[in-house]
Amino acid sequence: MLPIYDFVIVGAGMAGASLGAELSTFSRVLLLEAEDMPGYHATGRSAAFWSETYGGAGITPLTIASKPWFDRNGFLAGRGKLHIGCSKDAPLRDALESAFAGLGVTLDRVEPGQRVPGLLPEWTLGIAEPGCADIDVAAMHHFYLAQARRNGAELRCRATLEQARFNSGLWKLRMGQDMILARTLVNAAGAWADNVAERCGLAPLGIIPYRRTMVQARLARPIAHPLPLVIALDGSFYVKSEGSNRIWFTPHDETASPACDAMPEEMAVAQAMARLEATLDWRVARIERRWAGLRSFAPDRLPVYGYDTDVPSFYWFAGQGGFGIQTAPAAAKLALAELTGTTPDPMVVALNPVQYRPERLRAPG
Ligand SMILES: Cc1cc2nc3c(=O)[nH]c(=O)nc-3n(C[C@H](O)[C@H](O)[C@H](O)COP(=O)(O)OP(=O)(O)OC[C@H]3O[C@@H](n4cnc5c(N)ncnc54)[C@H](O)[C@@H]3O)c2cc1C
Repeated sequence: MLPIYDFVIVGAGMAGASLGAELSTFSRVLLLEAEDMPGYHATGRSAAFWSETYGGAGITPLTIASKPWFDRNGFLAGRGKLHIGCSKDAPLRDALESAFAGLGVTLDRVEPGQRVPGLLPEWTLGIAEPGCADIDVAAMHHFYLAQARRNGAELRCRATLEQARFNSGLWKLRMGQDMILARTLVNAAGAWADNVAERCGLAPLGIIPYRRTMVQARLARPIAHPLPLVIALDGSFYVKSEGSNRIWFTPHDETASPACDAMPEEMAVAQAMARLEATLDWRVARIERRWAGLRSFAPDRLPVYGYDTDVPSFYWFAGQGGFGIQTAPAAAKLALAELTGTTPDPMVVALNPVQYRPERLRAPG
């Protein structure tokens, strides 16, 4: 007899782990992870910040709804964020302010040079976002996996879902020689979300992975600490200090990529260095590390949470783009309510789950 699970979740990154932790309170859950350990892909490569503006106004309600969970569990450390621009960027500054007006986000006009020593003089426009914080991503991921395990969920690593078919009310899943049955299959496969749908005989939704490059450098001279995360209003760059002589920075690249073990490209690293030099007078002593990860977006850039329109026992939990860590607590609570038919947790009652459903991405007819 093949084992039957209530839910099999494909992918044990932040999406799969957070939902697995929630669902296992109620049901028999199995997490399938293709890699040797969970967190190897996007989850282990993030820039680890929580920001109410990141991802755009459509993401803000999910980010804000997640905050009480973060505070309760102690995974945030205050940092603040400074949006900077040159005089030509005044329309971008105004657009930022109006996009988030009325959403409960504090944004204050400030003198950027007074906030960040070493900022070059042409950066005259500044908007402070004091709510921005660092996330302890590894601890948060571990917390969710441990909660799932305590609730009796199983995690199988080196277990790639190769094929699944739905028949007589059950999914039959194949991973190499292994077969299992599931009542509901959850697709939390990150960059592989469309690929997993196809392996299950379903049409893809057009979720595209985009490569983002990060560089870690040691500075020649110490800088003031702590500093806010500094981000260009035109979306071309951000830099985050890690102590007084180390920084993380990125040219904010977004290159469409196949789902893969993403590697940094030298061109993007050079671009990051050039943008750092055009922004701050900090001198890099050496590049210590460079990495890349895939941020996966649906065409409208909103996440995809909901049952597939063709096979309702297939649940999409994908398209978390560049905001999948900061929104994970609320997303998991929303999906929990949908998947178990239980009353939504108070932290997500104000959210409208309909806007995240996959049907918006399927052509009518
Ligand atoms: C450079 C970078 C910076 C970022 N910065 C931030 C940030 O500051 N704040 C923030 O909130 N977000 C950030 N993000 C986004 C965030 O990291 C992602 O949204 C989030 O990690 C997505 O989690 P996930 O579980 O969906 O994907 P993943 O972590 O990629 O997990 C998906 C898993 O599915 C597994 N899988 C795929 N196919 C199969 C299969 N067939 N069978 C079994 N397993 C399978 C994969 O092995 C993988 O482990 C950043 C991302 C990047 C790349």
